[in-house]
Amino acid sequence: MWPRAFRRGQACFINRHMCHETRSKYGERLMRGCSCTGTTGLAHLTCVMTQATLGTASTWVKASNEPDGWTQWNTCRLCGQEYHGTVRCALGWQCWFINSARKAGDEYLYRAMLELGIGLVAASRHEEAFGVLETLLSQLPFRKFHETIHPRLSCEAVMYLATVCNKLGWESSMVNVNKLRANFLSLVPGRPRLSGLNMLRVIIGKVFINLGEDDELRHRCALELGVCMVDQNLVAEASRFLGKAGHATVRALGEEHAICIEMHWRIAQSIYKRHFFGGNDYRDLLMASIKGHTAVLDQSTKAHGVEHPTTLAIRASLKLCFEEQLDWTLDDIPRRVFEALDEIPRPPGHKVFWR
Ligand SMILES: [Zn+2]
Ligand SMILES: [Zn+2]
Repeated sequence: MWPRAFRRGQACFINRHMCHETRSKYGERLMRGCSCTGTTGLAHLTCVMTQATLGTASTWVKASNEPDGWTQWNTCRLCGQEYHGTVRCALGWQCWFINSARKAGDEYLYRAMLELGIGLVAASRHEEAFGVLETLLSQLPFRKFHETIHPRLSCEAVMYLATVCNKLGWESSMVNVNKLRANFLSLVPGRPRLSGLNMLRVIIGKVFINLGEDDELRHRCALELGVCMVDQNLVAEASRFLGKAGHATVRALGEEHAICIEMHWRIAQSIYKRHFFGGNDYRDLLMASIKGHTAVLDQSTKAHGVEHPTTLAIRASLKLCFEEQLDWTLDDIPRRVFEALDEIPRPPGHKVFWR
């Protein structure tokens, strides 16, 4: 959310002339939910939702090579990046609202439920997301786990369920998901605990192995597994795994891709955590982490803008490197690191913390 002074005179970019007077009059504030920068990307939440609802029938969609216009529920067509936070969550609810009356067996019913689950994850409403994703998995028509009627959709749902389990520290009981549970467990003999980490390992090793090298889903799952390792302090394994996966992701999706940027950040984060585990090279590890953070902060600022949640999270993570570490002094840091940091644009109101 922008500070009030900064928003004065700004207009909703979706409907610059029509909506602004009325919506602002009733107090609806402008929000940013994607990676558009400048005046583009500031919009009313209701305008984004209306745009997606109407979008499925628009001429733009018919002219594009995606005939159902589904990506309007999750991706901004101007910057090409996925919506985040509250905007993504609101779109998930709207998508579910529009599609919930469909009959069992209709693929769009399940896709809408998945959008809702992902939206709740984006807004960090993990307990609700857990319920939605387990319900979805219980309703999907299954033959075998990777031979479902909608294989991609079920893989994606399990992947998000695993990340939610990791965030909550829960294990999926899959009480309502007996068929899935039986099928999934048949892939993991002797390892019946369905923690987020175990589920992601199974998905990567046994399910997503069949996806193409340049399939985004495969790389997102690798990222989620890496995040899981970092969260659980499996830092050496995380550094190794993300380093290897990162190369493949850069090759397949390119340096500028959001998944690549987050992977590079998580690598820097795992190196930072590693320096706490002692050893003679802790100063080198800290320095490597600061350099990694600086490079990825610059990348994220360019790709997503200064106010994007990923950019802000990287900034907060870098700040920790300066505030909370083993004994060292700023004299250890080469001057060019400060110079690189000085050149990266800062969000309004954010002070320099590296001097
Ligand atoms: Zn955008
Ligand atoms: Zn508007």
